[in-house]
Amino acid sequence: MICLGIEGTAHTFGVGIVDGDCEILANLWKMYVPKVGGIHPREAANHHAEHGVGVINEAIEKAGIDKSQIDLIAFSQGPGLGPCLRTAATSARALALSLGKPLVGVNHCVAHLEIGRGLFDCGDLVLLYVSGGNTQVIAFANGKYRVFGETLDIGIGNMLDKFGREKGMTFPAGPEIERLAATTDQYQPLPYSVKGMDVAFSGILTAALNTKAELPVVCNSLQETTFAMLIEVTERAMAHLDRDEVLLGGGVACNRRLQEMVGIMAEERGASMFVPPGDLCSDNGAMIAWTGLIMHKAGIETSIEDSGVDQKFRTDDVEVTWR
Ligand code: AMP
Ligand code: MG
Repeated sequence: MICLGIEGTAHTFGVGIVDGDCEILANLWKMYVPKVGGIHPREAANHHAEHGVGVINEAIEKAGIDKSQIDLIAFSQGPGLGPCLRTAATSARALALSLGKPLVGVNHCVAHLEIGRGLFDCGDLVLLYVSGGNTQVIAFANGKYRVFGETLDIGIGNMLDKFGREKGMTFPAGPEIERLAATTDQYQPLPYSVKGMDVAFSGILTAALNTKAELPVVCNSLQETTFAMLIEVTERAMAHLDRDEVLLGGGVACNRRLQEMVGIMAEERGASMFVPPGDLCSDNGAMIAWTGLIMHKAGIETSIEDSGVDQKFRTDDVEVTWR
């Protein structure tokens, strides 16, 4: 079985093509980069509309298949930015109807976890999902993917991007912050904001913008503080759930220092860490395709009538019948 998946929750229009063994035949994308400021949802959606068909055709060519070999179309149904989601969903519906193939709507956060289960020989993972708009600790428990901790305000990636923007960095700022942070060991204390199992970043952002320390020191302190917060919550979830496997997902998971810190935590408790390659950590079509494929194998199909997008699609709203 071959599934083509379309990702379009925010800045990236991604198309992935996978087969039933989680072999990734193609995983291509085009990313919208705002000229000034943050992501403008309408402009990002226009970008997706402009490039969508091109990325789809390129992915099919890359996969070395004929359109007729595609058995299924999956798409990111939410959560995300309304205009972007609607553009991706429209492409998916059009493709499914024109090929006469079934459609499956996928929860984007769940897809970040399922791609890890597909790629790695692992058991029941705890996912630390750190992206632009989302920051959640997710694990499967009692028939659902449940959120054990999450941000109370903005996603960690958005926080890093906002900090970078104020400091004159281009979008996305995460890689440049990582580069600068690696040039120093100096640490300037910042507010440490863990509330139960949840985290908050907006106060830290304000404090980081107001500190007088040199930019690399602030970058280092920002990473050390926020990553420690995330790891505290992730470790507590692992301890309470008695899980010994942790998966990283989301664009911020590309950060080497975060990987190192999670790796240390895992090692100290005799657990294993799994990190997908960068192009499967960031928003991508392959994870949508793979999740759609395993959902469809379990008999799930989304009718055109039910294929409307859900900007606030919660991880724990998904009925997980495929496991
Ligand atoms: P996503 O929304 O999952 O595609 O991830 C995009 C986010 O990941 C943006 O906020 C980026 O700034 C962030 N990001 C990408 N690479 C890195 C990195 N090396 N370190 C920290 N954040 C990163
Ligand atoms: Mg994501």
